[in-house]
Amino acid sequence: MKFSTAKMDSISKRPKMKVLRAKSAGFCFGVERAIGIATTCTENGKRRVFTDGPLIHNSQMMELLEKSGVKEIGDYASKTAIDADIKDAKDAMLVIRAHGVSPQRRAYLKSLGLPCKDATCPDVGKIAGTIKIHAIKDYNVVIVGDPKHPEVIGLLGYAKPGKGFVIKNKQDVDNLGQIEGPCCIVSQSTMFPDDFEELAEYFKSRFPDTKIVDTICGATKERQNEVVRLAKNGAQAIIVIGGKHSANTVKLALLVKRTGLACFHIETINELDMDAISKFQVVGVTAGASTPAFLIDEVCNKLESL
Ligand code: SF4
Repeated sequence: MKFSTAKMDSISKRPKMKVLRAKSAGFCFGVERAIGIATTCTENGKRRVFTDGPLIHNSQMMELLEKSGVKEIGDYASKTAIDADIKDAKDAMLVIRAHGVSPQRRAYLKSLGLPCKDATCPDVGKIAGTIKIHAIKDYNVVIVGDPKHPEVIGLLGYAKPGKGFVIKNKQDVDNLGQIEGPCCIVSQSTMFPDDFEELAEYFKSRFPDTKIVDTICGATKERQNEVVRLAKNGAQAIIVIGGKHSANTVKLALLVKRTGLACFHIETINELDMDAISKFQVVGVTAGASTPAFLIDEVCNKLESL
């Protein structure tokens, strides 16, 4: 193969790419805990473990888990009946996903007759507890988040019937009818703190008897702060690794775009546009809370070899 001298010169003169890897990139404690619970329940492959919808939002990790005996049944939103799937599986076990489920779904899962282990992230559990306490005191509960996300679907189940609402933006607040009585407004665990605060204040301006409780989890805040730090430390582009349906990963990618940097949201190294990324000298790498370390290593190793 022939190379032009000019091209070879430009390659040899190009400085080595500097890769800044976010310290927080990868599993948060809630995801690590859920994986630990599910894999322990398999008893080294001796026992089948079912999860109601994906245990976590990362397809590559779910594939690996399936190989070790953890199988996803049910649907993404944990709504459909799943008893047909677990027929003749009396030796198996059910594990509740990291995003949690509604109390109604939990009762349904327990009624299936299999031993059931709860892998709900404790931070999601805290949001559920906040909603429960306020529902008992007859508050209306408003969740700032994505109404289609399993975490939000599960959390809404803790509000009193007819007294639970989900809002995503100001238009949703404008579209609400009159709400009688006090309100408590909480957040899905993976929102942007500034957006939550702004929307909660907007809601409060329409419904003054509102208590605002910031329930964004620490892992989300830490990962978002690190994106800002990567930008301050000179990153010209940031690669965000993680599931395209993982709420916290999608938010990280959005944050990168908001900082004005080039953003590459990929699930695996195969999706990375090498020509486009090679144009940058300093590249930041971060990953969602459900992205396994090996996927991040693959990307960093490839970049460092450029
Ligand atoms: S992102 Fe936050 S709420 Fe979600 S599993 Fe991790 S620690 Fe828990």
